[in-house]
Amino acid sequence: MEDLIQRATEQLIKSKHAITLTGAGISTESGIRDFRGPDGIWTKNPDAERKAYQSYARFQENPKEFWIETISSASLLGDLAKVAPNPGHSALAELEKMGILKCVVTQNIDNLHQKAGSKRVLDYHGNISLLRCFSCDTRYDRAEYDLDRLYKEDRLPPLCRKCNGVLKSDVVYFQEAIPADVAQESQEEAGKCDLMLICGTSAVVYPFAYLPRMARQRRSGKQTIIIEINADPTPLTEEGISDYLIQGKTGIILPKLVEEVKKRIP
Ligand code: NAD
Ligand code: ZN
Repeated sequence: MEDLIQRATEQLIKSKHAITLTGAGISTESGIRDFRGPDGIWTKNPDAERKAYQSYARFQENPKEFWIETISSASLLGDLAKVAPNPGHSALAELEKMGILKCVVTQNIDNLHQKAGSKRVLDYHGNISLLRCFSCDTRYDRAEYDLDRLYKEDRLPPLCRKCNGVLKSDVVYFQEAIPADVAQESQEEAGKCDLMLICGTSAVVYPFAYLPRMARQRRSGKQTIIIEINADPTPLTEEGISDYLIQGKTGIILPKLVEEVKKRIP
């Protein structure tokens, strides 16, 4: 592992446009369970997965009922407002501050990259702290809407101040399209990066999992370096999309990388 960390350090320092992709695995050390790891929510409870696949259709059918159910039941991932970032998130924020990482594209909805200080974060699957208008895509800070009060006063669903459309959580449900702005920016980043660091994702959720494949294909002649940091091998490892896997915990490996980078660029 130490050899691979040295190799990644050198490649990061040499890179001109390094980006990172992250998934639920980077947040497990903050106490948020992933979905498909050995202790994942879906690994342990396949019914929860089946239900999640129906969310979007249920929201469209009856947004009011959907909101009532959401507010009156506990979230699958727990109360994310109380969760703090871990050393893995902080290391990525630090690499950005040093000018090495240009952006984080995350599948996570937990807002922990932002809490750790990362500035350019593309929330590919949305952000739990935001609401998004179903009609015009305007996003609002969730705190701007007193959802408990709307619930008590029987005034759900929350409505958009711009167009009066129905608001849903910004979180992207299965079957729902990725918001156009984020989809486009992520695709551009994957197309122009010369190094992609992929952290804590099983890389099986599409279209997100196309991003490493795009990075691999786009640069004809000049190859993009693709490095995975994950507890287990993934299809990207097995299909040779990534150059190598640094196997282990992101909360341990990413701070080590930062330490090594600092030794070389004081
Ligand atoms: P996943 O659950 O499918 O895979 C997580 C991967 O991370 C697994 O390969 C696991 O072995 C690995 N892993 C777990 N802990 C790790 C650690 N400490 N260090 C390194 N690797 C670790 O997650 P996914 O690929 O992100 O896909 C799940 C979907 O569910 C995503 O779309 C995401 O939006 C959503 N989700 C989000 C959160 C969150 O916001 N924190 C949590 C669960 C699921
Ligand atoms: Zn609107």
